[in-house]
Amino acid sequence: MRERLPLLVAMVLFVPFSFVRAQQPAQKKPLDIYFLDTEGGQATLFVSPSGQSMLVDTGFPGNQGAATPAESNAPGVTRDADRIMAVLKLANVGVLDYVVITHFHGDHAGNAAELAHRIPIRHFVDHGPYTVEMQAGRDAPILSYLPIREHAHVTVPKPGDRIPVEGLDVQVVSSAGEVLKEPMAGAPGAGAPNPFCRDAKLKEQDATPENFESVGIVVRYGSFRLVDLGDLTWNQEHALACPNNLVGTMTVFHTTRHGDPHSGAPQFMDAIRARVAVMNNGERKGGSPEYWQSVHEAPSLEDFWQIHRSAAGGADHNSAEQFLANINETDHGHYIKMSVRADGSFTMTNERTGFTKEYPARGKAQ
Ligand SMILES: [Zn+2]
Repeated sequence: MRERLPLLVAMVLFVPFSFVRAQQPAQKKPLDIYFLDTEGGQATLFVSPSGQSMLVDTGFPGNQGAATPAESNAPGVTRDADRIMAVLKLANVGVLDYVVITHFHGDHAGNAAELAHRIPIRHFVDHGPYTVEMQAGRDAPILSYLPIREHAHVTVPKPGDRIPVEGLDVQVVSSAGEVLKEPMAGAPGAGAPNPFCRDAKLKEQDATPENFESVGIVVRYGSFRLVDLGDLTWNQEHALACPNNLVGTMTVFHTTRHGDPHSGAPQFMDAIRARVAVMNNGERKGGSPEYWQSVHEAPSLEDFWQIHRSAAGGADHNSAEQFLANINETDHGHYIKMSVRADGSFTMTNERTGFTKEYPARGKAQ
């Protein structure tokens, strides 16, 4: 009996193990992220390895954000809705599982209603059915969205809540003017004292308070982490990072507020130690030299991708051309695509040129 025991143990162990191996697919689907061009607004599509999808923001209505006022007001144009639909088709997304509206400015909520007419949307996520800028001329995005919202499945999360996209861990870190108060559980580096707070500055709140309400999220897939704070402001970034870094370290920093200097607190972006930054700027929206410089100087940053070459950035405050999705002489609305594998490695592609770059997974020691 004693002699047979090892054989028996080996059989018991081996049978289920080989069964499990045979059931696993050879290559798991990646997490695909599309950073769309909405001329200085936002629309970012996440397609989870599970097949579920999450769109963060819907771009401008009409042709707003175009180079000239005449073009911007051109009738009959649904530019960003068309661009979003084209990418959804390409990504084989027939239903949007989650649409996050970070806040109710036109460059984010502009096509919420338009998209709801074009594609089934299972869940909306927003900061609540109000805007703090309800004055005439600022209320169109929310007024077009509210009738849709009335009949939709809507979640209003608090900081710390999750958006349950299958296959991803999506956690809300800001909403309705509140930000996370405790370190994110299980997040690498979260809760650690932040040495960059020592000389940290604060800024006066600017005159567009709806930005302050933004729903901000952290998307995690294995060791890969991306932070997207919508148009949250400088002092809120500070609150997330000082005196302790509450969100931990990141792989990707999606720039706050298009690279506008009302956001971009270095004490936040230095603490998160992102490898890659992606800026959702327009040619003449966001992309400020000051913001660009802070991103550029952040420790651990390997590359800084931009949706547009920034006119204000000139020769000194723009990334090399291969990292620019649109260089503006003729604007085709090119996007940046990121494909993240389960081991944490990822590929980025500039759709304009086909330029791709591989980012190997970071070692555990880093
Ligand atoms: Zn914005």
